[in-house]
Amino acid sequence: MELSEDQFQRYARHLILDEVGEEGQLRLLESRVLVVGAGGLGSPLLLYLAAAGVGTIGIVDNDQVDITNLQRQIVHATRNIGALKVDSARDTLCAVNPEIQVETHAQRLDPDNAEAIVAGYDLVADGSDNFATRYLLTDLCCRRAKPLVAAALSPFEGQLSIFRPYLGAGHPCYRCLFRDPPPPDLVPRCEEAGILGAVAGVLGTLQAVEVLKELLGLGDSLDGTLLLYDALRTRFHSIRIAKDPECPTCGTHVLAAED
Ligand SMILES: [Zn+2]
Repeated sequence: MELSEDQFQRYARHLILDEVGEEGQLRLLESRVLVVGAGGLGSPLLLYLAAAGVGTIGIVDNDQVDITNLQRQIVHATRNIGALKVDSARDTLCAVNPEIQVETHAQRLDPDNAEAIVAGYDLVADGSDNFATRYLLTDLCCRRAKPLVAAALSPFEGQLSIFRPYLGAGHPCYRCLFRDPPPPDLVPRCEEAGILGAVAGVLGTLQAVEVLKELLGLGDSLDGTLLLYDALRTRFHSIRIAKDPECPTCGTHVLAAED
């Protein structure tokens, strides 16, 4: 595969970077990334991945665009209220970059469909807003050896990491940090808790940077580190995540049994 004349123009600011160059751009164009959730995190994430020329982007979401989404879900436009979010997002992404492929999955990810959907991609980015999906992806991406770039939001804070527990020692998963999901009634979603929209934009954009770094093999990975963003104090800090040898998803006995 070679870049076309148009692609040399479109990706000129990538190509000029020694760290990306033609080889890196071709790698992005050949990459397949699954984004789970076309909401507050998924919006900037999808936009930047499309603009960067990630060649195939899958989107999983079963919701429709509602007027209350538009305060933060910037991939959707007012004219698309009532449309499926996957269709609305695809329209926007194709307007930004018509040469990429966008595959839509208008489903809620569940244990019955997740395996088949995830199997078709190189990397998964979790922009969902619920613990059921987060734990489902944690377990599945470990089993299928897919890097998982996961972000989460609260009204004025966010967290981000990448999980590659299948690499073994020193590579924890989300369950190493939080073994089990919290009781559902303890965790308000955006609809109930509210959120400063731009906070989702910061985290979704950071998530896009980490996806692109992982695809290109650039810099230091967030693997083993949880990045925390405090918007009210304008602070970032990071904590190390230890791998739990007893982890039910990626513990020594689990990974050994799969060998
Ligand atoms: Zn684990």
